[in-house]
Amino acid sequence: MDKHEQHDDHNETWHMGHAESEQVLEDIAFYRTLIANVVFIGKPDDDWILIDCGIANYAKRIREAAEKRYGDRPPKAIILTHGHFDHVGSADKLADYWKVPIYVHPAEMDYVTGKRDYPVGDATVGGGLFSILSPFFPTKPVNLSRYIHPISTEGELPFLKGWRIIHTPGHTPGHISLFRESDRMLIAGDAIITVKQESSMAVFIQHQHVHGPPAYFTPDWEQAEESVKKIAHLQPKVVVTGHGLPMEGELLSEQLQELAANFKELAVPKHQNKLH
Ligand SMILES: [Zn+2]
Ligand SMILES: [Zn+2]
Repeated sequence: MDKHEQHDDHNETWHMGHAESEQVLEDIAFYRTLIANVVFIGKPDDDWILIDCGIANYAKRIREAAEKRYGDRPPKAIILTHGHFDHVGSADKLADYWKVPIYVHPAEMDYVTGKRDYPVGDATVGGGLFSILSPFFPTKPVNLSRYIHPISTEGELPFLKGWRIIHTPGHTPGHISLFRESDRMLIAGDAIITVKQESSMAVFIQHQHVHGPPAYFTPDWEQAEESVKKIAHLQPKVVVTGHGLPMEGELLSEQLQELAANFKELAVPKHQNKLH
């Protein structure tokens, strides 16, 4: 056992039993790292891709969940929907272990290579979640320079047939979602989420409802609104988001269209309603 893994084990109290992903479709599964989801794309006997890397100290559990599904085959690549700490926390350890590249949108590069910091979260809309998350807040800027590559948003990716990268900024400048036309499957990251992150209870009860991006870390609400409209326009049939449980069908499309049509009322924090 290496030093990293010993460090992982310090937080083993969070860990009830063996890590296991939940399957959404034959080739889509997700695994929740305390509050943030990581997504596996690929059938159990096929090549696969990891989307996002959860909070820190979850590398070992993400690997466990992956190994349960894929055996000891490493993923072809890691793709980050964006660079927030709850999505990249275990990225360096996983890339290091699997020796695989990590891809992000070009506009997100600076934030995951130690060049820029995200704006500080707006604590006035943070509510109880901050205290829950505080042990996982990063103490230094994320630097994944050794593994990171800009992702191409044009056409298909060679290792991800049938999927399109959709730029969905607002929550962060280089936020992306992934969409597969054939079955209208959407991996939305934090562009929309299905649990209200401002309510710490909902995070654990996992009420399903389509919400705008987590308010406390979203600096550009105008772009966030455009991104939600872009997503609504895609008319996804199934969605897996960065936070909360997957949603599908009527409930998803109704709530998504409602959010897109009434974004300012439903998603933008009141004191930020005046858009710049
Ligand atoms: Zn985020
Ligand atoms: Zn998040």
